[in-house]
Amino acid sequence: MSYFDEEQIHREIIMDHVKNPRNIKKSNDDYKSTYLKNPSCGDELTLYVLYDEENDIVKDITYKVSGCSICCSSVSMMSELLIGKNKNQIKAIIDNFNNMVTGSDYNQELLGDAISLKGIVIVPPRIKCATLGYKAFVEVMSDKCE
Ligand code: ZN
Repeated sequence: MSYFDEEQIHREIIMDHVKNPRNIKKSNDDYKSTYLKNPSCGDELTLYVLYDEENDIVKDITYKVSGCSICCSSVSMMSELLIGKNKNQIKAIIDNFNNMVTGSDYNQELLGDAISLKGIVIVPPRIKCATLGYKAFVEVMSDKCE
């Protein structure tokens, strides 16, 4: 597969998540939430996480997001990746994602559709767009998920 083909496929995955964002639904009081803004781009995100502490599993994630395609698609991809996972699995995913967007070694097996964002490593200002969802997730979980 040529570099161009891979770029094209990644762009299609990103646009699919922008047009058909995953896991958009109503939250309730059982969800914990946080609001984050990325001032350099104007992205705004409210993330809702339903975490089952007893069984150590993220049961659900939903969100309200407005902003650029990188931010919106990344949050959608993240929701798919993290639902159903425990804290250790999620830590590995977030570490690998952060490594990918900062140009370090990462395990792409863990990242699902989120590998389509790897091209943004060449555009440093967009890294903040891609990581906003993950930052919000860590913030929501901060009293439970070190
Ligand atoms: Zn953005």
